[in-house]
Formats: sequence, structure tokens, C-alpha cells
Amino acid sequence: MYGFDYQRPASRDAAKAAATGADTRYLAGGQSLIQAMRLRLSQSERLVDLGGIADLKAIKVDASGVTIGAMATHASVAGNADVRRAIPALAELAGGIGDPMVRNMGTIGGSIANADPAACYPAGVLGLNATIHTDRRTIAADAFFTGLYETALQPGELITAVSFPTAQKAAYVKYKQPASRFALVGVFVAQTAGGVRVAVTGAKGHVFRATQIEEALARSFTADAAKAVKMPTTDVNADLHGSAEYRAAMISVMASRAVAAALAR
Ligand SMILES: Cc1cc2nc3c(=O)[nH]c(=O)nc-3n(C[C@H](O)[C@H](O)[C@H](O)COP(=O)(O)OP(=O)(O)OC[C@H]3O[C@@H](n4cnc5c(N)ncnc54)[C@H](O)[C@@H]3O)c2cc1C
Repeated sequence: MYGFDYQRPASRDAAKAAATGADTRYLAGGQSLIQAMRLRLSQSERLVDLGGIADLKAIKVDASGVTIGAMATHASVAGNADVRRAIPALAELAGGIGDPMVRNMGTIGGSIANADPAACYPAGVLGLNATIHTDRRTIAADAFFTGLYETALQPGELITAVSFPTAQKAAYVKYKQPASRFALVGVFVAQTAGGVRVAVTGAKGHVFRATQIEEALARSFTADAAKAVKMPTTDVNADLHGSAEYRAAMISVMASRAVAAALAR
């Protein structure tokens, strides 16, 4: 690990004031960032720890949906009774991330800023058509995830919260890597006010919408309709865990299971 300066401000304004310089990074739970720094894959001159800013941990639920503060941990989302009632699929997604230590340290802001191609939250954000709130603007889910570990965030831009509208039906199912529980293929299916949305993680360089399955489910919201779609292998990941053909097939299988789970609520 390279040396760095560490600051722990108590407010958003102090955090923004501290986050000057191209090599400054916000620190959430450190579940990805500290590991990358230890391996010298990432070098930061300064870490601005967000852990002392209480209002970034807030979770609010009202009739329109759920707003989760950037520093809310996966465990706090999974265990929140109001989230479980309003959008049970979201609470279940958070409860299926990693292991207890990861869920107690990892945050929604860190997860989506990191934009790991196999992470679960990006699928929930895209599937539910969420809005990302930053210190500068709001960003629609469709515009947020731009590439492998890349997002629409500008240098120094602070995610403050993520708003999820409620869905008529929704579920997330992943075929998980057994050691880490990251998604080899994960699919979030939602019947939203704007139509059916199907977001896929783990299968390509970044989360994406499976429009072929969305169209099939718009005609018939059934597990069989999702399973019948043959997904193309274009740009689909291939590694020691599975070929592109295998992962493409798993997208339809996971989507059909997610539809079945959504219908069973
Ligand atoms: C063993 C293990 C298993 C895991 N399994 C899963 C899994 O099954 N599914 C899954 O989805 N994830 C999984 N994860 C990832 C984990 O859930 C965390 O969400 C992820 O590592 C990010 O961690 P963090 O929130 O601590 O952010 P950090 O590591 O602190 O930060 C990550 C990045 O986000 C930036 N950042 C953090 N907060 C903000 C903010 N508010 N605004 C702007 N930028 C910010 C940081 O500067 C950094 O670049 C796993 C991680 C580990 C270590």
C-alpha cells in the first residue's frame, strides 16, 4: 500500500471541501477500495472517509418509493422493515450480497460508484429505474453505468442517495460465484410504471438491460416467456467459470426464475 492522507469529515460540505485534487477518493466501507490499495492497483493521495456523516446513512420510505443514503450498508437495507414492505426485492438483493462482514461494511454508494461488472446493486438500480442523487445533480439509472468499473460520476462528485420507485412486481435472482457470492449472472426483473425492465449483471463488462426479454415479458409476464428468449452472445463474458454461450443461456434462465419469484409474492 502506498502512503496517503486520511480525513474523516462530519458533514457533506466538509467532505466536498476535503475532496480536492485528482487523486482524492471517498472512502465508504473500504470493501473494494482498501483491497485495491493494498494490492497497489489503486493509489490515492487522500482518502475522505464518509463514515462520520450521519445523514448519508438515512433510509426513507414513502408512498412513491424508497430513498437510501449512500452510506447505508447492505445489512441496514436488508434488515429495514419499511424497505422489505415497500420493495421486498431490493431488501432481498441487499441481503444476498457477500457475507455478513461485507454486508455490515459495504454500502450502496460504494457499490454503484465502484460499478463492478458482477455486482448486484447495479441490477437493482437499473431494473427499478432508480435515480442517483449526487452533490451536483440527479442521474437516471439508464445513464449512470457507462463501462467496466466506469460511471457517469465526475471527479470529486459525491453520491448522496439513491431513490427507487416502487414496482408492481419485482425480483432479483443470481447464479452466484460460490466463494464471493458476486453474480456470475444476475437478473433483476420489474414491472414498473414505465413497463417491464430486465437488468442483467455479471454477464458483460457492465450492467445492461435485456431488451429482448423485456419485449417478451411485455407480451406475456410469465417465466416461460422469459426462458424462451435466446440471448445473443455478443460481448458476453467468457472465463474459467463459464463460456459466453453458457452465460447467455443463464440470462434467460435467471430471468425466468426472477419472473416466477415476482409472481409468487
Ligand atoms: C468478499 C466480498 C464479497 C462480495 N460479494 C458481493 C456480492 O455478492 N454482490 C455485490 O454486489 N457486491 C459484493 N461485494 C462488494 C461489496 O458489496 C461492496 O459494495 C463493494 O465492495 C463496495 O464497497 P464499499 O461500499 O465499502 O465502498 P469502498 O470500497 O469504500 O469504495 C468503492 C469505490 O466507490 C467510491 N465511493 C464510495 N462511496 C462513494 C460516494 N458516496 N460517492 C462517490 N464515490 C463513492 C470510492 O471512492 C471507491 O472508488 C463483495 C465484496 C467482497 C470484499
